Amino acid sequence: MKIDAVKAGGDAVIRSVTTAAQAALSAKLGLPSDEARLEVRMLLQSVLKKDRAWLISHELDDLHADSHQDFQALLERRLKGEPIAYILGKREFFGLDLMVTPDTLIPRPDTETIVEAALEKIPEHQACRVLDLGTGTGAIALAIARQRSNALITAVDASVHALQVAQANAAALGCGHVELLASDWCSALGDRQFDVIVSNPPYIPEHDPHLQQGDLRFEPISALASGPDGLDAIRRILLAAPNHLKHHGWFLLEHGYDQSNDVRMLLNQGGFDEVRSIRDLGGIERVTLGRRQPN
Ligand code: GLN
Repeated sequence: MKIDAVKAGGDAVIRSVTTAAQAALSAKLGLPSDEARLEVRMLLQSVLKKDRAWLISHELDDLHADSHQDFQALLERRLKGEPIAYILGKREFFGLDLMVTPDTLIPRPDTETIVEAALEKIPEHQACRVLDLGTGTGAIALAIARQRSNALITAVDASVHALQVAQANAAALGCGHVELLASDWCSALGDRQFDVIVSNPPYIPEHDPHLQQGDLRFEPISALASGPDGLDAIRRILLAAPNHLKHHGWFLLEHGYDQSNDVRMLLNQGGFDEVRSIRDLGGIERVTLGRRQPN
């Protein structure tokens, strides 16, 4: 689709390009118009390498032909449904700018809930060993690392490509001390023991129609789906993770909107006390935690 705000020579006024692209995005992807405008601005910012304030105050400037072409190419990708985070190569999470690629799940605002809950269990002025299972971009591990400089954090992922992204994010955020490990859940952890274990595993049922919608179509299926009821990964993690958790250590899991009863039951059966669930910003029980009983 070509936007018709083009003047002779290929230049166009930023404001008309924005309006036309916003309408196209709303029509094609069904985005609310404020969200569409935000996305258009993010694409323009990325092409022009300017911040939001600059863009808003230069709406009547011309967008030169080459920038217009670059913007058009990005817009075409978005119009085909590719997630904005993959097009831009980044996503903000817990105040951090994270690099994301199609090898990683795109961090969600919902996942800030598990970070907040974990921070409550990690003392500020004491060493504390923390494990993040299935770290992807490193979002949870790095958000914790930035808030708790005394925490000794290990983050694992089965995907070497995801670990490269996590590594780049760790370096960019000055979190070089976070240990990154290729590991299928706990398989490569040896005899490491932790005070706190967190995980945002795949938890969508494998035939859930949401997997065919929106951003999820483009994300790694191994990071999203897990067996007929979505709980396969959580059951696997629960077989091994308690062996790596110190007595009285905390275990925190993110899960699906309708899985809190099941996950509480699995934690109760798995030898955890003080089991309870926490709601996300949308009011949905999104995180369940428990404390390892002494043997
Ligand atoms: N929260 C994601 C979603 O429902 C899924 C992420 C996951 O499976 N951990 O879109």
